[in-house]
Amino acid sequence: MKAREAEGRPPGDTRVGDGIFAGPGEMRALCRAFDWSTTALGPVDAWPLSLRTIVRVILDSPTPMFLWWGDELTQVYNDAYRPSLGASGRHPQALGMRGRECWTDIWEAIGPQIEQVMSGGPPTWHEDQYLPIERNGRLEDVWWTYSYSAVRDDDGAIGGTLVVCQETTSRVRAERERAQLLHALDLERARLATVFQQAPAFLAVLRGENHVFELANDSYFKLVGHRKLIGLPITEALPEARDQGFIALLDHVLATGEAFVGREVLVRLTSTTDEAPEEHFLDFVYQALVEADGTRSGVVAHGYDVTEQVVARREVERLLSESERARKDAEHARAAAVQADLAKSQFLANMSHELRTPLNAIQGYVQLIDLGIHGPITNAQKESLARIDRAQRHLLGLVNDVLNFTRMGAGRVEYDVQAVDVADVVTDVLPLVEPQLAQKQIGVEVRLSTPGAADVEPPVRVWADYEKLGQIFLNLLSNAVKFTPSGGRVVVSFTTRADGSAPPDVAYFQVADTGIGIPRDRLDAIFEPFVQVQTEYARTSGGTGLGLAISRDLARGMGGDLRVRSVEGQGSTFTVALPRALRPGDKR
Ligand code: ADP
Repeated sequence: MKAREAEGRPPGDTRVGDGIFAGPGEMRALCRAFDWSTTALGPVDAWPLSLRTIVRVILDSPTPMFLWWGDELTQVYNDAYRPSLGASGRHPQALGMRGRECWTDIWEAIGPQIEQVMSGGPPTWHEDQYLPIERNGRLEDVWWTYSYSAVRDDDGAIGGTLVVCQETTSRVRAERERAQLLHALDLERARLATVFQQAPAFLAVLRGENHVFELANDSYFKLVGHRKLIGLPITEALPEARDQGFIALLDHVLATGEAFVGREVLVRLTSTTDEAPEEHFLDFVYQALVEADGTRSGVVAHGYDVTEQVVARREVERLLSESERARKDAEHARAAAVQADLAKSQFLANMSHELRTPLNAIQGYVQLIDLGIHGPITNAQKESLARIDRAQRHLLGLVNDVLNFTRMGAGRVEYDVQAVDVADVVTDVLPLVEPQLAQKQIGVEVRLSTPGAADVEPPVRVWADYEKLGQIFLNLLSNAVKFTPSGGRVVVSFTTRADGSAPPDVAYFQVADTGIGIPRDRLDAIFEPFVQVQTEYARTSGGTGLGLAISRDLARGMGGDLRVRSVEGQGSTFTVALPRALRPGDKR
């Protein structure tokens, strides 16, 4: 057989063994080319049958295999093993090399195992053993699952160690990555659970057709009261939910997969067993839990307790509607008051008119008798007629006051506004009070020139109705005379308040007296109709208490005002403010 194998080769060529190395593959080719005579195995022809057999088995096998043979542990390996040696660094030098020299980097680990097998010990089995080796020019992390078992030689003694192995690096790596991912996932899950547990929104997971509580966070427990929930179907855990339609809703969501969104839904919950149910308003969503295979396994309940907001909003709405009602009531009351006022003014106007007709008739007849139309009259009769005439005039004055006032109340006064020279008005009015002034020896002074322009004294003009301004001045002058004792003094003057304390286009006229004055707490009241402060004066000097009310209304009706300052016992100053007509041609 040896002779046959050596046939056809040049003499001295020791690379025999084509028989056992015959066939395809890198390792067979390398084995054929290798000069085995340089190794402890010697030329292939001289190899024992057992070695030739095992080498052939190794080279034929698709499973990674490796052989250490003989005392020097000379190495042979197959194509399946070859990738484990890396792209560079070990292969192909490892072929035919001595084991100890080849595996210096891991000899400490594998040396004793080989020794155990070579000395007749039991075979070894290592699963996913970590054995970093140098390959591809660096130390690589490599894991192996392998066994070492003995191979007998032709004599039955142990000739070598066969390694059947599988490099499991990629699987181990994948498993490690998976473990890391699972760990990260666990962390993420734990974090999610914390978030879920502490979320301000309430959350609960209800599983299955009976809606068994699987999870509920702190907010959910707070909402329903701290009772047993987990593991219980909702009918047992929250019996009050049944009659409020929530279970039907859950059934629907689970059956159809359609989410339910509730806004401000009223829920009655009994948070402790012995208390009456509490009302809560909830914004919430019921959402089906869908498994990977598309089936619906439960419902997530998620939402907020909005009771406080709803209650607060309802309170605001209630207050708003109350204030709206109050506003309407006030409007009705005001309309009724206006109506009543109008009716009263109407009545007074009619009455005044009815009174004036007979009063005018009295005056007419008095004059006829006085003129002697109905025959001669005695002196005593003449005197009586004069008294009747005075009384009639007084009464007519009162009735006219009332009529004026009611006209104003009814808003029926018309103003003929023009640029009016105030000095003219005062000059016209003054003679009407002169008899009283003379009677009480009251001095009067009129100062109506522009202050500081003594030599020119241009007329002071205002926008006013001439007659009505006259009525105001007459009233103020009569009052000044009425309420100033004999020997007193009355001054009519004009100011513009050039100090800037008032707009320059307003003129102020004062009627000041040195009379009895008005108590401070009555300064507002005197402008009210029918208010008279010094009743004994009023009795002796007449009046209705309407003069100031009318005068102020007239002043305001012309865009001005009437005000008073007074010190009791020293005198009073009434001020008429009116828009000033700076030049005669000015238009308002
Ligand atoms: P009448 O003069 O008809 O009483 P008025 O409305 O003109 O009504 O005045 C109301 C009241 O104001 C007077 O009764 C009086 O008490 C008080 N009053 C008005 N002018 C003066 C004044 N110059 N000095 C003091 N009191 C005055």
